[in-house]
Amino acid sequence: MEHRLEVELTLSGPVREPASLGPLVERTATEAFERTMGSAGKGRLSDWRLDGERLFVQFESEGRRPHQALLAFVRRLSETLGREQKVGVRSFRAPLYRTQFELSAVPNRKIALPIPHELTHEGKRAVLELTDLPEAALRNNWVDRVVSLVKEKVDRQNYEGKEQYWSLLSSSPQREMRFALDPTEEMLRRLWVRPGPTKGKWFLGPTAAHLLRTMERIAREEVLDPLGFQEVVQPHHDSFDILLKTGHLEGLPGEFYYVAEPKTRDPVAWERFTDLVKITGEVPREELERMVTGPTAVSCYAQCPTIYWWLSGRTIATESLPLLVYDKSAVSNRYESGGRHGLERVDEFHRIEPVYVGAPDDLVALRERLLERYARVFNEILELEWRTAWVTPFYMQQSGLVGLDDAQARIKGTIDFEAYLPYRGTRESSEWLEFQNLSIVGEKYTDAFAIKTQKGELWSGCSGIGLERWLTAFLAQKGLDPDGWPSAFRDYAGKLPHDVKFL
Ligand code: ATP
Ligand code: ZN
Ligand code: MG
Repeated sequence: MEHRLEVELTLSGPVREPASLGPLVERTATEAFERTMGSAGKGRLSDWRLDGERLFVQFESEGRRPHQALLAFVRRLSETLGREQKVGVRSFRAPLYRTQFELSAVPNRKIALPIPHELTHEGKRAVLELTDLPEAALRNNWVDRVVSLVKEKVDRQNYEGKEQYWSLLSSSPQREMRFALDPTEEMLRRLWVRPGPTKGKWFLGPTAAHLLRTMERIAREEVLDPLGFQEVVQPHHDSFDILLKTGHLEGLPGEFYYVAEPKTRDPVAWERFTDLVKITGEVPREELERMVTGPTAVSCYAQCPTIYWWLSGRTIATESLPLLVYDKSAVSNRYESGGRHGLERVDEFHRIEPVYVGAPDDLVALRERLLERYARVFNEILELEWRTAWVTPFYMQQSGLVGLDDAQARIKGTIDFEAYLPYRGTRESSEWLEFQNLSIVGEKYTDAFAIKTQKGELWSGCSGIGLERWLTAFLAQKGLDPDGWPSAFRDYAGKLPHDVKFL
């Protein structure tokens, strides 16, 4: 058979009438398979034996895996044994769960898994043996998730490097470049900015801050307000629970800044710490580690997860759809490590994140209006040389794509906006800077957060307006002198602050 599950049940005492056990075990197993398999497969009890207070059973099935049948079996057996023989099932575990499934391709290297297992394959047919599974693993359906994980890892091996993740959608006209240097270097030279006291963070003096806020105002007044987006203010810490639901926790654990809490705020408990600070004039690291918890949350990575949390479990009234909101309060934190560069790749950045929730057609229409508004800003106010590209791999867009042309297939996915940075080299050879993006994610998050509507399908999406990126793209092309700036931008910026003079 395709799947085999061997289970050891620990009973709460000896069975008084072992002779009657056989028919009971067999009948209960048959019923359990009938109830849980339906047309999705067939299964049977292939072996069992009683050894003192331990009952061994072996379930086999084709089609659906047999652990749901096992759970139904245990529940019913426990009830009947309790009634008839005054013993129950105390716990159970699976010494072995063997399952077979098809892969999309032949794996080209070993697949690692973090739980005890053996994985082999013959061509695309995989055989997975999980060993020593605790009761919770059977109750919480680890096996189907492990199978999905193996398939996902093989899919990824197969797509690596093959798929084109980038395809040009639009390009602005070429522009005359008024600057050739790295704008961060120039801002540093003029003392507009100073690298922050901790990794990848910057202090923006009055002029740089004014320019960043000018970008923010342009985004609001030219794009968000006219389209009817309203501001929300969200907390700065994301719970693990939220990041589990969005998938960020499995996707990006190495890019988060984690939040820890003091174990207590009682000054007496902190006395040793404060005394050590007074005596040594240094941070007593060991004592600090003793006094704070491990990570309890994550510092905002992106704003949309917490916006989805706000809507979770709620039904949005038709009159409030499409729901159009944005957050500009939470500051994004990311551990960029070796990628850090100037103001364009920082560990702490300021971003406006509009989020939209609505009927699929409404979101597709909204995307067009957003694209038009953004284009006006980049063409007529910032006068940038920029382009857009579709960056979602084909296999991630949606199922049932066979026969669709590119435009039809490109409904769910992400558009990146990129600007040419002259200091990096020629237009053709250098990497352009992604300064914002725009996505429609379909039902992924409305499903994950149980966000509902009165009728019809509910989709969502978001757009990440990176203000440091808007600013670096602009300064890299136009330079730091207002004389070189487009007049529409100069109007927006108004009078620049007096920068602080340092001697
Ligand atoms: P990248 O590929 O450049 O790392 P990303 O795909 O990680 O960007 P998203 O998570 O899609 O970026 O975030 C949306 C927007 O946030 C980006 O378009 C950019 O404007 C901004 N952003 C992301 N990471 C940074 C960073 N480290 N520094 C400054 N801005 C950033
Ligand atoms: Zn988002
Ligand atoms: Mg990134």
